Amino acid sequence: MTETLAPVLGEATVQELRDALRGELLLPGDDGYAEAKQVWNGAHHDAMPAAVARVTGVADVIAALGFARSHDLPVAVRGGGHSVAGLSTSDGGMVIDLAPMRNVRVDPEGRVAYVGPGAVWGDVDHEAQQFGLATTGGLVSTTGVAGFTLGGGIGWLMRQYGLACDNLVAADVVTADGRLVHASADENADLFWGLRGGGGNFGIVTSFELALHPVGPEVYAGPLFLPGDAAGDLLRFYREWAPNQPDAITTAVSLATAPPLPVIPEKWHGKKVAIVIAVTAGPVEDGEALVRELRTVAEPVADLIHPMPYQFIQGLLDPLWPKGINAYFKAANLARLSDESIDSLVALHQDTPGPQCEIHVHQMGGAVGRVGQDETAFPERSMPFVVNAVTGTPEPELLGAHTEWARTVVASTKADHTGRAYVNFLGDADDAAEAAYGEETYRKLVALKERYDPTNVFHLNQNVVPSV
Ligand SMILES: Cc1cc2nc3c(=O)[nH]c(=O)nc-3n(C[C@H](O)[C@H](O)[C@H](O)COP(=O)(O)OP(=O)(O)OC[C@H]3O[C@@H](n4cnc5c(N)ncnc54)[C@H](O)[C@@H]3O)c2cc1C
Repeated sequence: MTETLAPVLGEATVQELRDALRGELLLPGDDGYAEAKQVWNGAHHDAMPAAVARVTGVADVIAALGFARSHDLPVAVRGGGHSVAGLSTSDGGMVIDLAPMRNVRVDPEGRVAYVGPGAVWGDVDHEAQQFGLATTGGLVSTTGVAGFTLGGGIGWLMRQYGLACDNLVAADVVTADGRLVHASADENADLFWGLRGGGGNFGIVTSFELALHPVGPEVYAGPLFLPGDAAGDLLRFYREWAPNQPDAITTAVSLATAPPLPVIPEKWHGKKVAIVIAVTAGPVEDGEALVRELRTVAEPVADLIHPMPYQFIQGLLDPLWPKGINAYFKAANLARLSDESIDSLVALHQDTPGPQCEIHVHQMGGAVGRVGQDETAFPERSMPFVVNAVTGTPEPELLGAHTEWARTVVASTKADHTGRAYVNFLGDADDAAEAAYGEETYRKLVALKERYDPTNVFHLNQNVVPSV
């Protein structure tokens, strides 16, 4: 769909919305539209929204939402724009782009951050680290706080301080009918439950209040690169080691191809490597003991685990995942890592259709597992591992082969699946939310959806479908 709003609705009607907004309204053909419509995943760059409203505050959000509803335009809500499934854009719809609302205010005494819905994790870390504080954020610093937190939020501090959603103290939300409500443990507690894992199903969050914790400014952290043929030994070691570690360390294994970085010996560039990335949350001097055993698995290609600024580890992976890359992710929660799964992951690691096809195995547990299953809408707390097949390529024609590979990777571990999945790692827009959340949580989510968004205005997400 390429028509602009003006011919469809008339210039005067569109002008009404322009006048109602403090931010910009960009239609196809306007200067800035081509850039404003782009999301992170290049695979969704063809989508042509009828309009992008770059909102600057709650009043703009209410105006844009009301306009979209009264003209039957599908509504896409965009925080950081990192949805792998392309859920923050809409062909022919209205994108409510929260990017201009990226202010972060830290209260160092109260150890909370008030975060705008357009902020990315680099913004939060920049402000919070000024005071030696942080909260669980993304592995890539350009990921948006909004979608990340609402879906759950797996990050390097999670085993010490919980998921991002576990650190949500309160939120302001514009509901489908254009009301501004506050949600916290004491106010609209049902909505507060749903905002912690239930994604963007219940409204547009216009402010996040996040708990902060003392972290850094230096942490003992970094990647340990092992030869690719040590991948099996590493995963066999990891399945015993990871569940028995203290909260202070969070790690992930990445079966990958060595990028051509000067910190990796040149003869390894382009070769298969098995990487463990470790981040310790406590004092730097405690870090070496926490990673010591990881260093015994194989002779490393490069050992880059050492004291470093917390903000450095938070941005370490950024250059590998730039905006515009054509990406696909596929993930599942794992109850165990069986020999069969390990063997298939090792084989598929050797047989990737491109250099940026990686198998990530996240170490869960710690503080994540101690939050009661009913306390938040995050689907599952007890799984020891999450597997995520992550792919990216500058060449769109490789996307099909990458997608097929990622699906094969996850399917090959099926015997170990718990049956649920983390919605933010699902690369397909039509991946069923019901299966990801599991029956009981999904039933509660549907009831909440019917209370806050009975006509499914907010359907561009891992959608909870109202039954009324
Ligand atoms: C490079 C990369 C790295 C990633 N790393 C991690 C990681 O380390 N850990 C992890 O857990 N996940 C990670 N993810 C997945 C990430 O959590 C999701 O893509 C998340 O949705 C991104 O949030 P966003 O605000 O940038 O996304 P957007 O694309 O803006 O939005 C995603 C979804 O949230 C909704 N939404 C956005 N803002 C709001 C709002 N204010 N109110 C209501 N709904 C809203 C959107 O409508 C959409 O459905 C990564 C993704 C990428 C692309």
